[in-house]
Amino acid sequence: MASVVVVDHPVVQHKLGLLRDRETASFLFRDVLREISVLLAYEATRELSLEEHEVMTPVGLAVTRKVRPDRIAVVSVLRAGEGMREGVQLLLPRAAYGHVGLYRNTETLEAVQYYVNLPPGMSEKRCLVLDPMLATGNSAATAVTRVKEKRPRGIVFVCVLAAPEGLERFHEEHPDVTVFTGCIDDGLDSHGYIVPGLGDAGDRLFGT
Ligand code: URA
Repeated sequence: MASVVVVDHPVVQHKLGLLRDRETASFLFRDVLREISVLLAYEATRELSLEEHEVMTPVGLAVTRKVRPDRIAVVSVLRAGEGMREGVQLLLPRAAYGHVGLYRNTETLEAVQYYVNLPPGMSEKRCLVLDPMLATGNSAATAVTRVKEKRPRGIVFVCVLAAPEGLERFHEEHPDVTVFTGCIDDGLDSHGYIVPGLGDAGDRLFGT
């Protein structure tokens, strides 16, 4: 049942190369992360249901189809998920937005939760959870657990890069959640960083 979609579109792969490059400055990293997030979310929203709707064009009546923004929630995992949220908000400006704040215990690599704020009415919504790096899978799994407690209609996880061991760990806990990613990298180093990865996404995003 567990599924991973690698978005191997040439434009996504091009932008991924810019994000990986350690010479890419923070201001550019931020722009490119925003852009790649639009493209990843475009793929991740492919299954959204549509409702028929009639509009008058200047020439006549047209039957159109529209997504229900009140049926979509987007949850960014603080802090690096914020770099993706900006892009997804361009695509889905009227969706509801929430946050899960997690930091990583640097010794155990476990996710420590410090903040949760999810939109009301989650049981009516499909949810995109955003975090650029699915590394150990601990933060991703914890964030999705918090979201599942609100019983949304469905969840997809959207990241820029994933590690194979993180995907395995994530899907042990959440086999029903499809992961959309730009690439599956080689693995993790001893500090839990993705190799070759792109470094610390939060630091690169905020210049810390
Ligand atoms: N978080 C990051 O920002 N980078 C990694 O490689 C792993 C976790």
